[in-house]
Amino acid sequence: MIYIGCHLSVTNGYEAMGKTMSRFGGNTFAWFTRNPRGGKTKAVDPADVRALRAHLEREQFGPLVAHGSYTMNLCSAKEETRANGLDMLRQDLARMELLPGNLYNFHPGSHTGQGVEKGIAQIADALNCVLTPQMHTTVLLETMVGKGSEIGGTFEELREIMDRVEFSEKVGVCFDTCHTWDAGYDLVSDPDGVLAHFDEVIGLAKLKAVHFNDSKNACGARKDRHEKLGQGCIGMEAMKRIALHPVFQGLPFILETPNEDEGYIREIHTVLEWQDRV
Ligand code: FE
Ligand code: FE
Ligand code: ZN
Repeated sequence: MIYIGCHLSVTNGYEAMGKTMSRFGGNTFAWFTRNPRGGKTKAVDPADVRALRAHLEREQFGPLVAHGSYTMNLCSAKEETRANGLDMLRQDLARMELLPGNLYNFHPGSHTGQGVEKGIAQIADALNCVLTPQMHTTVLLETMVGKGSEIGGTFEELREIMDRVEFSEKVGVCFDTCHTWDAGYDLVSDPDGVLAHFDEVIGLAKLKAVHFNDSKNACGARKDRHEKLGQGCIGMEAMKRIALHPVFQGLPFILETPNEDEGYIREIHTVLEWQDRV
């Protein structure tokens, strides 16, 4: 089986997210560790986090997948932006220690003209500043579409980052189906080939989470416009095949489809039905 859920807002606290997801029928979720456009974070109430942890255990949730801010760019040409990104990363990971054993995903970054090699080196340097063997979080690099100067549009780029990270056992990959498709990996005609290639370049052991999105655009379009399940260019049949594929079993799947609550509830139930769990 896979775990299924969607993004929730942390505005009402941590336990509230767990309860909301249980009401939606899911058993994992994602949240932005801070306002997706940056800014300060509220103080955490330890009792609230304890209540969430009890809920997760009671309801047998899978790993949660926190998402770093979109403004965090560890490989910007601007030193100030890089420094801010490193601060956010450090603070976010400190906060994740309150929820041990979960996942923290972020966009590797955009090199903003410095070149891919330099960008990769800067991302790895930043990770080497914050990762420790004692930490209880696995940090995930998200597969990207590779638009503009975005790093992570190929499996090889993600591998290169991980190769330069000292405590690389703390790093994994979040496989965004819309991004991977848009980057040119054909999940419709050849999902097995894509996954075999992933295994060859990165290794399936590094696959820790999935962002489960259909795409508004064709394979290779490099657009990054998510679509509701079955309503995009990947289509329902291919999405179902991915959800039931052996390599993804046991992983948390996070919907980032353009939906309101009702849409997420429907999509969560669709995924549960595929697995004969309703
Ligand atoms: Fe993302
Ligand atoms: Fe994503
Ligand atoms: Zn996206």
